Amino acid sequence: VVGPRQSINLLHLRPFTLHSNHYHRGHSTNRVEYRAAATITSERERARTVAAYYNQPAVEAAAKKKSVRLTPSAILYHGRSEDEATILRSAQYLQKEMPVRVAKRIIAFRDLPFIVGCNPIILGVHELYLRAFNILNNFPAINTKEDEVSYSQKLSELLEDHQDVVTQLASGFRECRRHIHNEELVARFLDKTLTSRLGIRMLVQHHLSLRENKPNYVGIINVGMKLKEVIERSCQFVSRVASHKYGRVPLLKLSGHVNAVFPYIELPLDYILPEILKNAVRATVESHSEIEVMHLPPIHITIASNEIDFIIRISDRGGGIPHHLTKRALEYNFTTANDGATSSPPAFSGTSSPEGVFSNMMEAVNPNPVGGPMHGFGFGLPTSRAYAEYMGGSLEVQAMQGIGTDVYLRLKHINSPGASFSSFRI
Ligand code: ADP
Ligand code: MG
Repeated sequence: VVGPRQSINLLHLRPFTLHSNHYHRGHSTNRVEYRAAATITSERERARTVAAYYNQPAVEAAAKKKSVRLTPSAILYHGRSEDEATILRSAQYLQKEMPVRVAKRIIAFRDLPFIVGCNPIILGVHELYLRAFNILNNFPAINTKEDEVSYSQKLSELLEDHQDVVTQLASGFRECRRHIHNEELVARFLDKTLTSRLGIRMLVQHHLSLRENKPNYVGIINVGMKLKEVIERSCQFVSRVASHKYGRVPLLKLSGHVNAVFPYIELPLDYILPEILKNAVRATVESHSEIEVMHLPPIHITIASNEIDFIIRISDRGGGIPHHLTKRALEYNFTTANDGATSSPPAFSGTSSPEGVFSNMMEAVNPNPVGGPMHGFGFGLPTSRAYAEYMGGSLEVQAMQGIGTDVYLRLKHINSPGASFSSFRI
């Protein structure tokens, strides 16, 4: 058994090494002591986090349990009544479910190739998950309204703490790219980690918004979602980013079933649509010279909604994806943007844009986004496809080399009779 003392030493290995370097180089000892003191303030919490590295029985036991995934219709049905009992039951479900899901992710971090798992950024995310597991697994039983309120408080703190995980994973995997021999294994890890995260965030946000009583919403489900409005929101966001970046933006034209209204969850759409639109806009702008500014071919967005699913096709005339890259475009970390988010065009700048406009606006369109410098990581397409499949749908890219690209996003309705038996689970 490893006591908390050893754990603290282990965790502080890095800071301590740093400090002693400072010390030996004759830097002020005061500063060293001050920094050491600062790290001790969070000592207890860190001790708990690190103890969890060794506290394998708890993680392993939880990871062995079966995760209980819900159909959106079940979520919709159970969330209809907004009484205390419903909210309490929802919290109790999460209290049982969260440690199981988080523990499964921790096991997956452990199973990563050693050299990848050692990457400081990836290790940082691993630690975030361990910390979340501890907090969630040690939370006392929820029996009263007060218990539920403090549990919800914890949940929203955790949502916040995990806000940047996708960006962190994207940059972590980019760093250790050259050590990865088994692409397949990493792709599976990322598919699973990212979609599990999406699921967790949907469930948590659903629970947190049950109390909000927003008209037209049951938790996170918009019972009368106007697809057109959701798409337009993404178009506006991407247009702003692109005009900031390039000074010119192609027209984005919407057609098809523009009056489609149905219940759905906006969260995944608010991630997927901007990613696909950014790619289309970037390709269009970059394949047309400045002189052609008046002649930028528009991007056509077509909506179809039927009994079973709804389909969004985004067609650009950005020249398409070269044959030899069509497969790779859907791989994690594959990008034709200049290396590094700090590069100038042709990359969309992430935090590199002067006022960090990109990340701010990302938050404007979606309070729970990937955030930060997404472009240039090569995460847009693979993450979008993983999310679409998690939602019982698909994402297909059809390039017409020399002309442009069509992206088809298909998603299952959550309330269709036709989809009931094959409906997805969150
Ligand atoms: P990123 O945008 O960060 O490069 P993505 O996963 O979104 O990552 O896209 C990966 C690559 O696929 C892009 O760098 C680009 O080369 C190619 N691509 C994606 N969408 C299009 C498109 N509509 N037209 C041309 N190329 C595209
Ligand atoms: Mg992209």
